[in-house]
Amino acid sequence: MESREVVVIGGGPGGAAVAAWLADAGHDVLLIERAALPRPKVCAEYTSPEAAVLLERLGALEAAERAGLRRLDGIVIHAPDGTTWRMVHGAEGAARPNLALPRDRLDAALVEHARSRGAEVWERVLVRRVLVEDGVARGVLARDQREGERRVAARLVIGADGVRSRVARDLGLARPLRWPRRLGLVARYQDVPAPDHAAALYLGAGTYAGLTPLGGGLATVSLVTALGPGPRRAGGLEPLFEALVACFPALRERLRGAHRLERPRGIGPLGQRTARPYAPGALLVGDAAGFFDPLTGDGIYLALRGAELAAETADAALRAGDCSATRLAPYQQQRHAAFGAKARLAWLLQLFICWPPLAGYALRRLRTRGALAQALCAALGDYGPAEPVLRPGYLAALLRP
Ligand SMILES: Cc1cc2nc3c(=O)[nH]c(=O)nc-3n(C[C@H](O)[C@H](O)[C@H](O)COP(=O)(O)OP(=O)(O)OC[C@H]3O[C@@H](n4cnc5c(N)ncnc54)[C@H](O)[C@@H]3O)c2cc1C
Repeated sequence: MESREVVVIGGGPGGAAVAAWLADAGHDVLLIERAALPRPKVCAEYTSPEAAVLLERLGALEAAERAGLRRLDGIVIHAPDGTTWRMVHGAEGAARPNLALPRDRLDAALVEHARSRGAEVWERVLVRRVLVEDGVARGVLARDQREGERRVAARLVIGADGVRSRVARDLGLARPLRWPRRLGLVARYQDVPAPDHAAALYLGAGTYAGLTPLGGGLATVSLVTALGPGPRRAGGLEPLFEALVACFPALRERLRGAHRLERPRGIGPLGQRTARPYAPGALLVGDAAGFFDPLTGDGIYLALRGAELAAETADAALRAGDCSATRLAPYQQQRHAAFGAKARLAWLLQLFICWPPLAGYALRRLRTRGALAQALCAALGDYGPAEPVLRPGYLAALLRP
């Protein structure tokens, strides 16, 4: 049995960030990732402007830029009736660019950053089980592709292992997300015609698509649709992907002359819930703590900000020599304060997917109601509060003819 102060499971943005912050604070951190990095990731590769602020606080913004992070100037949202609205973040003179980030390279760069801050990193090691004694997480049992079984004892176990979190399941914290149950598909294209400075979101009925330009004619196309017999009926993921692209005339047009570089990759169901993001001796970060739906394009931001909150709680608990549930519980309240209203907004926005005529109606009003549009941009961009756009008065002002 080896022993570390903290073991972090998962080398996505959440795991890499919490490992870097805790190593920075002087803790002995081991990060375990099952893949060899860089690894592909099913993601639309777009994120809200505030993620750049967090990367800066982490000290990893330059590394992310070297890994291909690009600043965009907005996202053009297409309603099913052809109405478009360009969502541009930031007030006049203080632009807050939304971001495009190639996940394979970004995630590898963030893990490298954690390593440079002093965290030890094991790649190609799968955590098979959390070791639990008397209801307290005490470490993990892992399988190293080269060295076989490894047991690591830890004072704190941090699960940052994504939506199918082994850690959340082993600690009895995972709960199914009953709605929406969706499938996500992504593939990169090359030779996508200019302009390549804005992302695009195409809304459909019960489905939506995204296009994120990664620069030089490279772009990621993502499709989200109801989980069901689709892939079987269509004859596999590839025909389903093509059939879904064909459902969005504006996307089809945008991809004219472009070439798909790879077979589509998919994941479903996309979401999961958790009872709480902590247990005695353990914290959950990023998607492992819960993920709803990628429509709002903020999973990376949530993973980074959640990692920051987790690192603060973990640092205080480790210094106090107390990683009990009582000591870790404030993390849940902090997450609720930081993410609760935005989560409610994410639910509300599902109306646009479930009831397509509403999307065109609302976008037409956002085009002419500047103050309402700015409040929505701030909430969606994570640099402003979501509460104001949840108020009945906001919705009434937006929806009145
Ligand atoms: C279709 C789709 C599109 C999306 N588009 C966007 C978008 O455009 N913008 C955005 O911000 N978010 C998007 N998201 C969400 C975003 O990808 C996630 O929220 C984000 O990756 C969460 O980061 P994480 O670090 O929590 O988990 P992940 O990035 O999933 O990382 C988890 C890591 O844990 C590792 N792991 C898992 N199990 C084990 C184990 N047992 N042992 C060791 N390692 C393990 C995995 O290999 C992985 O590297 C999208 C999601 C989907 C499904």
